[in-house]
Amino acid sequence: MSGPPTLLLVGAGHTHLHLLRHADRLRAAGWAVELLAPRWFDYSGVGSAVATGALPLAAGRLDVAGLAARSGVRHHEDVLADLDPVARVATTASGRRLSYAVASLGIGSVTSDLGVPVGPDVVTVKPLAGLQSLAQRLAPDGAAVVTVVGAGPSGLEVAAQLAVRPGVARVRLVDGGHEIGTSLPAGARRYVERVLAGRGVEVLTGRGVARIGAGSVVLDDGAVLEHDLAVLAGGLAAPPLLAATGLGDAAGAPVRATLQHVEHDDLYAVGDCAHFTPAPLPRIGVHGVRQAPVLLAALEARGRGEDAGAHVYEPRRHFLSVVDLGGGVGVASRGRWWWGGRAALLLKRRIDRLWIESYRAAGG
Ligand SMILES: Cc1cc2nc3c(=O)[nH]c(=O)nc-3n(C[C@H](O)[C@H](O)[C@H](O)COP(=O)(O)OP(=O)(O)OC[C@H]3O[C@@H](n4cnc5c(N)ncnc54)[C@H](O)[C@@H]3O)c2cc1C
Repeated sequence: MSGPPTLLLVGAGHTHLHLLRHADRLRAAGWAVELLAPRWFDYSGVGSAVATGALPLAAGRLDVAGLAARSGVRHHEDVLADLDPVARVATTASGRRLSYAVASLGIGSVTSDLGVPVGPDVVTVKPLAGLQSLAQRLAPDGAAVVTVVGAGPSGLEVAAQLAVRPGVARVRLVDGGHEIGTSLPAGARRYVERVLAGRGVEVLTGRGVARIGAGSVVLDDGAVLEHDLAVLAGGLAAPPLLAATGLGDAAGAPVRATLQHVEHDDLYAVGDCAHFTPAPLPRIGVHGVRQAPVLLAALEARGRGEDAGAHVYEPRRHFLSVVDLGGGVGVASRGRWWWGGRAALLLKRRIDRLWIESYRAAGG
C-alpha cells in the first residue's frame, strides 16, 4: 500500500518556515511533509547589522534542521539543482532524486549584477553569507575605503552602517538614478541624505557603473574610483536556477494568485523567487511572510481533497518598512508616512526579535 502523498518544500525562507511550524496541520490534511534546504536560515532584517558587526551572527540565524526535527519533517540538507515538473522529481546538488506529489519553491533571490562585469571579490548583499564576509574582510584597526553600488534600502543600510564602523575610513555610495532610496517617501529620503552627509558618506547619483572590481569601480563616463572593497547592492533578482530549469526567468517563477505556477498546478512558488503575475511585487520579506497562511490553507484544502482555488494572495499596497542606518538610528515608513530616529530602529529591533524568537521557540 502506498503512503501519504509527499509535499516537498524547497528552501526554508519566510513562507516555508511558517509551514514547518505548522507541519502537524499539513500531516492532519494527509501530507507527508519533506524539506530540501540548507541547515541554516539567515534573516535579512538584521543582515546588514550582522555584517557590519553591530549584532552577533546568532541574532538572525535559525536552525532549520532543529525546526524540521521538532516538527517531524524529513529534512534533506542540500540544495535544489534541477526540477522536472512533469515527472515531479527534484534533483539535489549532490545528485539525490526526490519524488513529490506537490512541491513549493521558496529559494529566495540573488543580487542583480546590473548587467555589468562584477569581480569575484566584490561582496554582494545576497546571499547573506556573502554579506557576512564583510566582517572578516574589514579589519577593525584598518582604514578601508569602501564603494557601495546601489542606493536602494540594502545599499543605504550598508553604506550608513559602514560609515560608523571601526576600520572604515571612507564610504562612497554610487547609484545610476538621480536620487537615493526611491522606494522611500520624500521626507524619509531627505532624512537619510542628512544622516549620510553627517557621517561623511560621498553620494554619487546619476552615475551608472560599467564594471565593478576588487580594487576599483569604473563608471559609465569612464571615471575610475579606487577602493579597498566594493559592495554590490544593485537590487534583488530571481535565482538563475529558475531560467536554467525552464521554470521561470529573470522575473522569477510565474505564479497565479493561488501561488501555483502558471503552467503546473502541482508546483507553487513563494517569496522573492516567485513572479506574482496578477501584480508585480517588490522583493521584500513581508510578501513571503504574508503568503505563508495562504499557502498553508491551500495545501490543507488540497490534502483533504477540497477545492483550494479560494485561497489567493491579495497583497496590501502599503506595509511598514524600517531601514537600519546604524549608529542607533533608523527610518521607518509606510506609504507616505515616515519617522526617523532612535525609536524607529528600536521598533525594528523589537519586530525582528519577536519574529526570530517565535521560531526559536519552535526549535529553530
Ligand atoms: C541587506 C538586506 C536587508 C533586507 N532587509 C529587509 C527588511 O528589513 N524587510 C524586508 O521585508 N525585506 C528585507 N530585505 C529583502 C528580503 O531579504 C527578501 O525579500 C526576503 O529574504 C525574501 O524572502 P524569501 O523567503 O523569499 O527568501 P530568503 O529569505 O532568501 O529564503 C530563501 C531560502 O532558500 C534557501 N535556498 C536558496 N537556494 C536554494 C536552493 N537551490 N535549494 C534549496 N534552498 C535554497 C536559502 O538558503 C534561504 O534560506 C532585505 C534584503 C537585504 C539583502
